[in-house]
Amino acid sequence: MLTPATHPTGPETSAETPPEAFVDVRNLAFRYGDRKALDGISFSLDQHRILGLLGPNGSGKTTLFRILCTLLQPQGGQVRLAGLDPATDPAGVRRRMGVVFQTNSLDQELTVAENLVCQGRLHGLRGARLKTRIEELLQRFDLGGRRNSRVRTLSGGMRRRTELAKGLLHRPRILLLDEPTAGLDPHIRQEFWDHLTDLRDSAGITILFTTHLMEEAEVCDRLVILDQGRVVTEGSPVELKDRIGGDVIVVHSRDPNGLKTRIQARFPGPASVVNGAVRMEQRRGHELIRDLMEEFSSEIQAVSLGKPTLEDVFIRETGRGFQV
Ligand code: ADP
Repeated sequence: MLTPATHPTGPETSAETPPEAFVDVRNLAFRYGDRKALDGISFSLDQHRILGLLGPNGSGKTTLFRILCTLLQPQGGQVRLAGLDPATDPAGVRRRMGVVFQTNSLDQELTVAENLVCQGRLHGLRGARLKTRIEELLQRFDLGGRRNSRVRTLSGGMRRRTELAKGLLHRPRILLLDEPTAGLDPHIRQEFWDHLTDLRDSAGITILFTTHLMEEAEVCDRLVILDQGRVVTEGSPVELKDRIGGDVIVVHSRDPNGLKTRIQARFPGPASVVNGAVRMEQRRGHELIRDLMEEFSSEIQAVSLGKPTLEDVFIRETGRGFQV
């Protein structure tokens, strides 16, 4: 689970200080000119877990991703990955970390195996050791039958799996992925996630990924939700949704602001207008829907009741919809 952020300051604190988390991000700050991209981000994660960093456009995901994978130096705060600081030991972090970018990093004219050989050599792997490692990864990611295919002939799912194999060649302990399944069909996305959970479970890899997709965020063990460079809330997806603790009712009307005022005057509990509709959180929501229909049926165009989603979590924390 997410552990309290801890930074031992010296031996004198060791009796009371819990061991440092495997991933420990503390008060991270970054600005482009006078625009704040990261405004004091903190979170931590134990080993062998999958952490999602979910946020709408502009929330700071790319900046955070680039700092974690040593491409950008933070301007404030601190990062520790497997006990190392990317700012002072980028080479050490790169040895322990595999990175899968959202954009294609494969040579389209080379075969799957050739791409992996090139990457392995960059990591100093050669000969039988490299061959064995490539074979392991081809088997793990169901790519054995396509080892001699040029990358440009592969499906989107196979390319993503080849990217994954490439990121794992040097046996990293942490894997960092940027929007890992954006643009993939739902069943291919699921297949890719099965591979990632298997990496966590059978290879003990700690995985961090950024995303703006709710479906993608649902699969992680721990979720950190970002907005405007800050952590809005964090917890497991189930915990976060349970905190809302009831049903979410959304009422569509031609005059959502007027209807919201009238609903609030008549029924207890907060109502807000989000994305042009009146939104309420309520236990036993079906009873409220019945009452709303009795009072306001002429004003209601449509009404829906649902269990809380991660979007509802975001709305509750920010008062805004999750517009990407
Ligand atoms: P995300 O990946 O969640 O969309 P980013 O990290 O790209 O977020 O951006 C965070 C904030 O920093 C946004 O307000 C964005 O406009 C700003 N930003 C990002 N890159 C630059 C840049 N190169 N120059 C100026 N502002 C930038």
